[in-house]
Amino acid sequence: MKNIIFIAPPAAGKGTQSNLVSEKYHIPHISTGDILREVMKEDSEIGEYVLETISSGGLVKDDIMYTLLEKRLHEKDCQNGYILDGFPRNVEQAKKYDEILKRLGQELGYVISLEIDEKLLAKRITGRRVCEDCGAIYNINVPSELPEIESTCDLCGGNLYQRNDDNLESFQNRYQVYLEKTGPLLEYYKNKHILYQIDGNLSIEEVFKRIAMVLEGYYDND
Ligand code: AMP
Repeated sequence: MKNIIFIAPPAAGKGTQSNLVSEKYHIPHISTGDILREVMKEDSEIGEYVLETISSGGLVKDDIMYTLLEKRLHEKDCQNGYILDGFPRNVEQAKKYDEILKRLGQELGYVISLEIDEKLLAKRITGRRVCEDCGAIYNINVPSELPEIESTCDLCGGNLYQRNDDNLESFQNRYQVYLEKTGPLLEYYKNKHILYQIDGNLSIEEVFKRIAMVLEGYYDND
């Protein structure tokens, strides 16, 4: 399986779709947000910096991201492909990622973007709940994405929590950052002819069907 990059605004469904792809195609799901949420638990200067930055909805410094990412990509489970969820987040990071890939002797693979209405994002962001044990994602504002038992993960019984940046105030900033910094990446990858744009307003199943078509070579990107 080739490497996959997901690009989408906050709460568009990147994490959910990454989990599904990871399960079906047996490749690891690397979420830079998840990596940073572990770092922010550390009682250190960098832990504190990451906590403050994530809470405000800004982007963590590029140099920190490169170190964390390159370390993760060197792990054995990345040799047969992986899913990047949350990286690259700006054109600078995309260029650096090209260099990292060269060093690893790997290729870019697929870039999949999820296109979604802003109004739907605000609804999803306030309703998102995440399992603290297995990372499964639910949404209490979307009937088909509710857990069977309140605050409990259907898959592992873990506790569901709300991320500290999943509120409307932080969302406004994250969305602006997405439009300004991450948006230009679409052009960057379109020019490389590896961008696949998918309607993210559809149900989880319908979006996943389209992603599977891309990965199995049945989806035209022109
Ligand atoms: P996510 O889980 O992808 O929504 O990321 C949560 C937060 O982590 C973002 O709002 C950023 O503050 C930070 N973050 C995640 N990935 C990156 C990245 N590639 N570069 C900079 N900051 C990031």
